[in-house]
Amino acid sequence: MPTCPRCQSDKVIRNGTIHNGKPKWACKECRRQFVENPAKPRISEDTKGQIDKLLLERLSLAGIVRVTGVSARWLQDYVNRKYAQTPRQAEVPAQKNDA
Ligand SMILES: [Zn+2]
Repeated sequence: MPTCPRCQSDKVIRNGTIHNGKPKWACKECRRQFVENPAKPRISEDTKGQIDKLLLERLSLAGIVRVTGVSARWLQDYVNRKYAQTPRQAEVPAQKNDA
């Protein structure tokens, strides 16, 4: 399930398809309609490893963005996914999942 590119909400619903058959989505929060962007920046495994180390060093997300050059949005998603997979609680809140 993609998140809204405008407000980052995950309360999105399928809203048909576009001409090439890709699903179209609509955000229930801000009503923006969008198509999931397949051209997400590819982050190398090296960069991910570096980010993991920086997270352990408790560097702020803004600091990690400056050091590694990834986008803040990508980093937030990465951290959310990472901690969603980890049983122990971290200071980064997991994404709400009340769909
Ligand atoms: Zn939205």
